[in-house]
Amino acid sequence: MKRIGIVGGGLLGRLAAFVLTESGHAVEVYEKTPENPGFSILRAAAFTSAGLLSPISEKDSGGNIIFELGTKSLKLWSCLDRKIKKIIDEGLGLLLKGNLFVSSPAEVNNAVRFFNKIGFKGLPLSSGEKHTMEPNLAERLTCWIVPNEGQIYPLRALNALVIATNKLSNKSVWHFNTPVEDFGPGWIKTEKTFSNYDFVFDVRGVGAIDVGIRGVRGEVVLLDPPSNFCLSHPVRFLHPRFKIYIVPHENRRILVGSTEIESEDVSPISLQSAVDLLTVAQYVFPELSEARILSTDVNLRPASFNNQPFFQIKENLVHVNGLFRHGWLIAPALLLEVFSTLNIPLSDPAFTQ
Ligand SMILES: Cc1cc2nc3c(=O)[nH]c(=O)nc-3n(C[C@H](O)[C@H](O)[C@H](O)COP(=O)(O)OP(=O)(O)OC[C@H]3O[C@@H](n4cnc5c(N)ncnc54)[C@H](O)[C@@H]3O)c2cc1C
Repeated sequence: MKRIGIVGGGLLGRLAAFVLTESGHAVEVYEKTPENPGFSILRAAAFTSAGLLSPISEKDSGGNIIFELGTKSLKLWSCLDRKIKKIIDEGLGLLLKGNLFVSSPAEVNNAVRFFNKIGFKGLPLSSGEKHTMEPNLAERLTCWIVPNEGQIYPLRALNALVIATNKLSNKSVWHFNTPVEDFGPGWIKTEKTFSNYDFVFDVRGVGAIDVGIRGVRGEVVLLDPPSNFCLSHPVRFLHPRFKIYIVPHENRRILVGSTEIESEDVSPISLQSAVDLLTVAQYVFPELSEARILSTDVNLRPASFNNQPFFQIKENLVHVNGLFRHGWLIAPALLLEVFSTLNIPLSDPAFTQ
């Protein structure tokens, strides 16, 4: 059994804590925000995220590394979802029914160019297939399905990981509302404590400016659609100027996202961004005109100089970061690479490399 200290209880911190606890290790997670932070503070990027799991389309921005980690992670998420359902009767909110690409008639050639670039070979759906899959999609749109991809409900997953870890073992401890003041190989210091560990994981997301991380602003809008509206697949609108998706969210809500702006400004969504997101949402789903805008949100994606994920090991300290716009997509497979490089034993054969 290893004693492991984790700095940061966002996506990576919570997922690492669950996987390590399940393998019998004793984990302590230090997180500066509350367990369920509201909107009022800058919290883990994971809370704002759409939770899209789409290795094929993210190949465009992330390349082959993201595609491979993402493809592997889809299987790992399914396995984690099953495990968590057994422990707490509720899963991670994982839906792998396929993602849809849609394009306006005028942009079909650009869509095909994009598909050639990412190696996607699907054919457009017939209008009958399109209607069966998403009856509220605008008639004029051309639509393709990427099978086996999908999404995870971020809030549900973040909560479930903490609850399931607590149920597994009382050797793992969460310190919420506890900013880490300093840490190094094998030790973590907070205002009130100094603790030693076999390994320390630094997973501070945008908090890790000292390891070259920058924040990239992303804005989203949450909608309450009319009662007869349904959406069961994440839909990505293909357009040279907009990278916008419309995604089912918990409690029948719809998330429209997201901008990608080179700025660490976390002030509220700009008028221009709101107009872009909502114009596309209404164009793709005309019935959304009567949706109610419930909230908007802004957060920062943690990005490295080349927007690629990395881990750096210095004795028994490991920095894992740079998950950028792909955190949910790649986190399980990336963490397994880290555990395997550190020779941290895992009990489940599905989780050993
Ligand atoms: C608008 C938006 C949309 C996104 N959509 C998607 C998507 O559809 N699919 C996808 O795969 N990814 C998406 N992402 C990206 C994904 O959310 C991130 O890649 C992921 O959250 C990064 O995980 P992380 O654990 O590295 O960082 P985070 O989730 O940000 O967690 C870092 C944690 O460290 C804590 N922390 C920092 N410093 C300290 C300290 N000193 N002491 C204690 N705690 C500390 C922070 O409070 C935070 O809780 C999106 C992101 C945004 C902003």
